[in-house]
Amino acid sequence: MKDVKSLIRQLALEEKASLCSGASFWHLKGVERLGIPSIMITDGPHGLRKQAGHADHIGLHKSVPATCFPTASALAATWNRDLIVQVGAALGQECRRQKVGVILGPGVNIKRSPLCGRNFEYFSEDPYLAGEIAKSHINGVQSQGVGASLKHYAANNQETRRMTIDTIVDERALREIYLTGFESAVKEAQPWTVMCAYNRINGIYASDHKVLMNDILKEEWEHQGLVVSDWGAMNQRVEALKAGVELEMPGPADGNDARIVAAVCSGELDESLLDRAVARILTLIGKAHATLSQDFSYDPQAHHALARRVAGEGAVLLKNDGQLLPLRAGARIALIGRFAHSPRYQGAGSSLVNPTRLEALDEELAKLIGAANLIYAPGYTEGGDTVDEELIREALGAAGQADSVVICAGLTDMDEIEGLDRKHLKLPIGHEALIERLAAAHSQVVVALSNGSPVEMPWEDTVPAILEGYLGGQAGAGALADILTGRVNPSGKLAETFPLRLQDVPARPYPGGPATVEYRESIYVGYRYYDTAAMDVLFPFGHGLSYTIFAYRDLALTRSGDAITVTFWIKNTGTVAGKETAQVYVRDLQSSVFRPDKELKGFAKVELQPGEETQVTLTLGPRSFAFYDVGSKDWVVEAGDFEILVGASSRDIRLAATLHLAAGHGAATPADKARLAAYYHPTPKTRFSRADFEALLGHPVPANVGTQKGRYTLNTPVSEMTGSFIGRLLYKTVNHAMGKTIRGQEDTPTAALMRAMAQEMPMRAMLMAPGPLDRPKLEALLQMINGHFLKGLSALIRSGSSRN
Ligand code: BGC
Repeated sequence: MKDVKSLIRQLALEEKASLCSGASFWHLKGVERLGIPSIMITDGPHGLRKQAGHADHIGLHKSVPATCFPTASALAATWNRDLIVQVGAALGQECRRQKVGVILGPGVNIKRSPLCGRNFEYFSEDPYLAGEIAKSHINGVQSQGVGASLKHYAANNQETRRMTIDTIVDERALREIYLTGFESAVKEAQPWTVMCAYNRINGIYASDHKVLMNDILKEEWEHQGLVVSDWGAMNQRVEALKAGVELEMPGPADGNDARIVAAVCSGELDESLLDRAVARILTLIGKAHATLSQDFSYDPQAHHALARRVAGEGAVLLKNDGQLLPLRAGARIALIGRFAHSPRYQGAGSSLVNPTRLEALDEELAKLIGAANLIYAPGYTEGGDTVDEELIREALGAAGQADSVVICAGLTDMDEIEGLDRKHLKLPIGHEALIERLAAAHSQVVVALSNGSPVEMPWEDTVPAILEGYLGGQAGAGALADILTGRVNPSGKLAETFPLRLQDVPARPYPGGPATVEYRESIYVGYRYYDTAAMDVLFPFGHGLSYTIFAYRDLALTRSGDAITVTFWIKNTGTVAGKETAQVYVRDLQSSVFRPDKELKGFAKVELQPGEETQVTLTLGPRSFAFYDVGSKDWVVEAGDFEILVGASSRDIRLAATLHLAAGHGAATPADKARLAAYYHPTPKTRFSRADFEALLGHPVPANVGTQKGRYTLNTPVSEMTGSFIGRLLYKTVNHAMGKTIRGQEDTPTAALMRAMAQEMPMRAMLMAPGPLDRPKLEALLQMINGHFLKGLSALIRSGSSRN
């Protein structure tokens, strides 16, 4: 491809505008006469979802086989930067093989609530950890000369009404919790693309959000790549272009390219802004094309083996009383639960991968301990949503003949779906009943869980061992077998807290709606809340056991300019080799603003042979001590005392030292502590009220109500246009069309997602469906729905079919 500047000079205005939207669902446009090729960009994040035939963004149609790596929850639980770079590189290689220029991921959104239906696709409740893992993922992908897409920017932390919800969040929480992961990944890994989210942030659609897209992402963080809209996230095309969203996906973009042209012609849009956008798009195409013009192949077996290694490091040994695990050689094992035979290994929606192979635990365990030592019983029904006495009796019979029992339980495909949040944190009742009955009958029970996000475990103290396998990808079962038999020593640690019960979760109300969700808890997300409020949890952030023991000693802090070097020693005092992730937290002892009890600011994973000891060195910069000061719009470090805590988890602090900073950076704007009292001393009973939140925001929260007839917009969910006959008719049509699409697969996760979409989809999303509707027609219809029947009808008649 020729150089970008000269290409832009040769492009006509219409061509430039047309480059700003896709040619199809997955392809960018090219310009043949100038040798600009069309490249493909596709999902992501933990495997390639390249659809060779019909396209969709919810996992409806098949994709070409690709390695299904563990999903993000498991990747983060490895706390292993190098390993995630390798996963990224493998994903990049599969892109090269399949001629895909950008893989859509990673997702760095914060797990605000364990209920979020897409948590399996996200890394952590902690922004530092999420950012570190995202960086590694991106660096790995981009080492192959293809691009990553960091998503979903920003404050997209729930699925309910994901296309329209307005996230009301205070600026400090936005910066410290919801933007930090994006910030470090952008600054330090420069993803070729950032994906703009569907939702609104404090009243403004992400796509129109100039502060987020331009001022913060482009100017402050110096992002060099482009911003692509999530599929259907474009609100107002010209506003979005001004804000800094270069590329609209999917294409074709129903009238929006023409809108750009018109805006330039009328002077509403400066052509230089369009040129700037086109330059970024052409740069992306050029980089991808340089890679993809060469043929490439990779070894699928090697990628499968990597997937197994990663799943082994992402599994977290939550409990292991009496060292029940690893299983004794020669022991007879009752393997109970359908998941042992039909594994639960990924979530539903746009990340759905068609795996190259799929391991099952019954087979993998049989390979390692011999089929004769294994008795299998399904234990629960396929959906797990009933208690099947017959299956439980059979399972009890199997357990009666075994030395140890391994129960495979977890969440089902219907529980973790893009587009749908969970309603509770419970296991399916069939799984729960099975665990309770087996635990009562046998003393040596291991529960091996497959789920992408936390579950409640009311049975926790009745079983000696629990292994959280997360959604381990296509080789997750083999990885579990490796850990159960001791071939692999577990080293995963939780990247999220497992609360005791849903009521403990600080994100209340969740998920909000119909119009807004208020992030009243501000910075108190995950362990930042539980540790500050001194609240009991089921398993804390950072927790994970090993088959060996690690001892920590001699924490020392040294200063050089702004940097604090933290050193300490870790020794493997057990009898087997193992890996330990040491976590460094900072506690601000004398802050003038409210701060959490502690915050993660560094970690290191080390591998040690029995008896081996190593010194760990980490560096903390000013940002490790800073909070975001809303008054000065800057990061402030206050002089004073800080505690540096080194732990095996957020609740297992092994070493501590105090650091005195004589001078800070910037000055905190005085806060009204009396009005913000709730935030200074949260307790387990604290419920941040609307008044508390308004005091923090500095303004009233917007009304949280649906829209009335006469005020419907293209962003009103079609299901809510009930005040109008035509609106009701339209909703019926949408439902009918969805029903037709899912016929024959009504009980699948995809069907559940489609039903939720029909319910929540704003009118504008109809533009993504194939068919005669374009934007002018929709606008005409909207007029009719709002009661301007004749005006709308004549607009409808006037509107030709103007799709570009
Ligand atoms: C999802 C994105 C995904 C895109 C394309 C959207 O619905 O939110 O994560 O990359 O579809 O499939």
